[in-house]
Amino acid sequence: MRYNGLELKIALPIRQQPDDVWQQLLAIAEKGSPATKEKFLEAIAELRDDLDVQAIEAAFNRGDIAAVVDAIPWDDLKDALHAMESSLDEVRTKAFDVSVGTVEPYLDPAQLAIHLGEGATLSVSFHHVSKDVQDAIARNTGARITAVTDETRAAVKQMIARAYDEGEHPRSLIPKLKQTIGLTTRQEAAVARYRASIDDGTRPAERVDRMVVRYQKKVLTGRADLIARTETMQAMNDGQRASWWTLVERGLLDVNGFEREWIAIVPTDGRTCLICESLDGERAPIGGEFPGGYLGAPAHPDCRCTEKIVPVEEKSRAGSGSLVTGLELALQMDRLLTALRAAV
Ligand SMILES: [Zn+2]
Repeated sequence: MRYNGLELKIALPIRQQPDDVWQQLLAIAEKGSPATKEKFLEAIAELRDDLDVQAIEAAFNRGDIAAVVDAIPWDDLKDALHAMESSLDEVRTKAFDVSVGTVEPYLDPAQLAIHLGEGATLSVSFHHVSKDVQDAIARNTGARITAVTDETRAAVKQMIARAYDEGEHPRSLIPKLKQTIGLTTRQEAAVARYRASIDDGTRPAERVDRMVVRYQKKVLTGRADLIARTETMQAMNDGQRASWWTLVERGLLDVNGFEREWIAIVPTDGRTCLICESLDGERAPIGGEFPGGYLGAPAHPDCRCTEKIVPVEEKSRAGSGSLVTGLELALQMDRLLTALRAAV
């Protein structure tokens, strides 16, 4: 894969920040990443164990590739992937807490007094997030899990079709099928090319198989890493946004007085992300879009960006006066991840 764990530790914002909140937020996402990765790999392992070998072989013998693919219990994979939610919930909750602390100085003292009584301390937790926003997070998560499942399914279909064309024996199909489960179509094709490149008659078949299995494992681990990093960055940013939206809904944060600012963070290896570099420092209403139609960080798989809340600058203050309801925020969240769905 393109990245390794080390690079996560040397990621920097492309401009100096006056505070270290982004560091705290990134640390929260990074800490949740290994558990998320593990849950993904467990989900794949479970599906590999649950195959109905007889049904698959029978369908393959009939030449019914669609039936082979349909014999795999994909809904079980979706269910297993939902297990990633426990670690992601933790990330959201922690980011929420950090974010509420950051925003506290900006909260309206008069509103605080009304809501909490004189001298009361602010205690808003992720459990206070409105149902609309919670539902939107759940729907987005569901959509991403469906996308991961669909891509996995497409890779298996591609592999079966290739095996059929090549006259694969049903008995050797099953182990190859198991190894394919979890890969993307692009990765499946890469594995096939790798096999073709080493299977040149100079090595015994068992050795070729072993080398391919090793390669596949590496590729699968890479996908698990990418999904874990993207999901935890998403959860971190969702948790942070949920805190702002919750405070707005409760009348504590003035949606007209504050807006979001994009903080682009790129690893210091020269591999800069053009999308995010151009978004750095751009601003958006709390419930609105950044220039270019971006609804918020992350902007793409493996995006490491985050956002922060800032006072609206006088010049941009005019025109951003609409009241944002929980439902509108939820609808924004629904749209937030469309770009991520196809890519992992
Ligand atoms: Zn980014």
